[in-house]
Amino acid sequence: MAHREAPLACTVRACGLPLARGQRSWSCERGHSFDIARSGYLSLLQPQDRRSLDAGDARATAQARRELLDAGFGRALREVVSKIAAAHVAAEGTVADLGCGEGHFLAAVCARTALDGVGIDLSPHTIELAARRHPELTWIVANADRRLPLVDASLALVMSIDGRRSRDEMARVLAPGGTLLVAVPAEDDLAELRASVLGEAHAESRAARVLAELAPHFELVEQHRARQTVTLDTAGLERLALATYRCARERERTALRALERLDVTTSHDVLVLRRV
Ligand SMILES: [Zn+2]
Repeated sequence: MAHREAPLACTVRACGLPLARGQRSWSCERGHSFDIARSGYLSLLQPQDRRSLDAGDARATAQARRELLDAGFGRALREVVSKIAAAHVAAEGTVADLGCGEGHFLAAVCARTALDGVGIDLSPHTIELAARRHPELTWIVANADRRLPLVDASLALVMSIDGRRSRDEMARVLAPGGTLLVAVPAEDDLAELRASVLGEAHAESRAARVLAELAPHFELVEQHRARQTVTLDTAGLERLALATYRCARERERTALRALERLDVTTSHDVLVLRRV
């Protein structure tokens, strides 16, 4: 399979020129250069981004999420997302996953289509897991809340799965007619965990709010629900708490540890949008 070079853009302030890949680094025509890490990823973080590094996932969180996904948690979402990519996106091009985590969903999409993948996440620990498992894809540490390190109109598909959504930036990097896929937790996401540990009845549905927020640049093409229920034991529940930043209070941790097992539903609204 012929891979195109990822359409990366320089993140040095006010530069933004395309980056070209060299042996051990990527660089722009102004001579700004970024070294490829030993495990294969590229950090495009700038000094002004480092302050927000704490916001990136810690190693334990990244590892917990990978173990959950490897155990089948997220299978329904993976199926829906990769089917949508196969059905809606032209045969070739590049897909970027914003807040890609350890790369589970991006890798599934690239396995199902002929798209080249670029995963972007703020956490070096998380990107390192992704780069080691899927070296054929391009993995970038960058702050997706700021300017995306991608060339204008260069992408066939942009994905945001439980991630940030910088509307104007997503519109800038998508090619005309490009597809945006956004997955957000549905009302019944983690319902059992909320009922038995967190003491909250419902999650708020976010799909309507997200559609309103994206409306100036994107119109809804389809909406899907990805839902599955998995039985988790104590260790699985601990991983879930870590991976989803839940149960941080002592009272909640105690309640969680008291459970020997729990059926947990994971449920997402998956929105397919087109750039207008
Ligand atoms: Zn530059």
